[in-house]
Amino acid sequence: VNEMPHWLTKRAFLTPEREAISDGYRMWTFQELHERAEALAQKLAGFGVKSGDRVALLLYNHMEYAAFIHGLSFLGAVAVPLNTRLAPVEWAWQVTDAEAKVWVFDESFAQTVQAITLETKTLCLSRAEVEAASASGGETSLLERIQMDDPATIMYTSGTTGRPKGVILTYGNHWWSAIGSVLNLGLQTDDKWLACVPLFHMSGLSILMRNVIYGIAVEVQAQFDPAEANRAICERHVTLISVVSNMATRMLDELGEHVYPDRFRCMLMGGGPAPRPLLERCKAKGVPVFQTYGMTETASQSVTLAPEDSLAKLGSAGKPLFPGELSIREGERELSPGEEGEIAVRGPHVTPGYWRRPEATQQAIQEGWLYTGDIGYVDQDGYLYVLDRRSDLILSGGENVYPAEVEAALLSHPAVAEAGVVGEPHDRWGEVPVAFVVLRAGEELVEEVLIQHCRERLARYKVPVRIIQTNHLPRNASNKLLRRKLKARLVQEEK
Ligand code: AMP
Ligand code: MG
Ligand code: MG
Repeated sequence: VNEMPHWLTKRAFLTPEREAISDGYRMWTFQELHERAEALAQKLAGFGVKSGDRVALLLYNHMEYAAFIHGLSFLGAVAVPLNTRLAPVEWAWQVTDAEAKVWVFDESFAQTVQAITLETKTLCLSRAEVEAASASGGETSLLERIQMDDPATIMYTSGTTGRPKGVILTYGNHWWSAIGSVLNLGLQTDDKWLACVPLFHMSGLSILMRNVIYGIAVEVQAQFDPAEANRAICERHVTLISVVSNMATRMLDELGEHVYPDRFRCMLMGGGPAPRPLLERCKAKGVPVFQTYGMTETASQSVTLAPEDSLAKLGSAGKPLFPGELSIREGERELSPGEEGEIAVRGPHVTPGYWRRPEATQQAIQEGWLYTGDIGYVDQDGYLYVLDRRSDLILSGGENVYPAEVEAALLSHPAVAEAGVVGEPHDRWGEVPVAFVVLRAGEELVEEVLIQHCRERLARYKVPVRIIQTNHLPRNASNKLLRRKLKARLVQEEK
């Protein structure tokens, strides 16, 4: 059978006194993390959580997040981390789609969550309510083993069309992701990984998994602050950090003339392309940047570039990690080096599929290959170059914005006949969404009204910063919106 001892139990047995997790003020050892996770498991069992149940987590970045993730694993329950920045209707949709048995939220969300009516019989509990509850009498037997093929988490990710899909990741997926990463980056017992990316994203969640599997320390920061991140590296012995490129830019700006200590050995940079000037700046300053290409569906990194290659292979995302394979494909045909095609990834870190979406799963995964929708090529040496992000994805401050989702929100307004959304460059966020709309005959648009309409339906970062009225949108023969042409129009508009 494909199983192994429970990760946190094993870790607490191997290195009980070692520092597990801190937030700059508090610190728990692995033994303490273990005790807390077990106690939470008992409390959650008292609320009826059983093996296979989905439990939605609407929590900020804090140490307790780790206790909840591992606590759920003691029950065989599936964690559904929710993006704290979404609009209430977006949370409601995901909780309903996941048919969550319980929804746990931080206190500050209480009023918002209580105002939501769910179609499911989900029990909504604040974190304080869970933590204050008495255990189920300590009678629930907690799992002693991890079943590698069991789902551990479901994380929602949007796509080119329609609603967000829940990406199922098994324990095996998380395990092999952690192993693939460490076989590349190496491991030191004094390693400390800074988690200042959201724990509800794969980039953050994967740090919590490595924490326990490797037995290294993790510092969690409530939100990203360049000065605070630099302090953790310079004063609190952080050796590895995960960032998206604009976080790195802000950290270097803040660092000024100072340099990082030698023990700081990895700045893992992913989520989007790394701009060339930034890489050169990092090189000049001796910042050890590892560029990486990954996605929720691959439980984080799939391909990573070591710093020694970073200038020789400038712009490359690197080679596939040890357990995985990479292929550039056109349909089922594998292309040769230099030829551009769809990036496909295979390996034990790849999701078995989307939650209750057999068609979407079949479409994305064929013969073990996950078709990412991203376009790229590999060179003669096997290094990946990502050319174009999947579809028309807009990357804003490390968050993905899918135009289709924003367009759907715009189209739900009765005055809007057609809508098209594209990204516009932005100094701080990288890109921000801008909308073009065609109104129904006789309707008039007040931009602010439509923006407010979007605010009620979408996370802030997805709401168009501007809405441009137009008479028609560029479409191809089969009436498909040509967002590239729309983008060109945006550039024109600016002139
Ligand atoms: P997510 O599921 O939020 O992790 O988003 C994954 C997507 O981010 C990928 O499918 C790519 O479109 C994009 N992405 C991630 N890493 C890179 C990279 N190194 N270069 C370009 N795009 C990237
Ligand atoms: Mg995604
Ligand atoms: Mg992302």
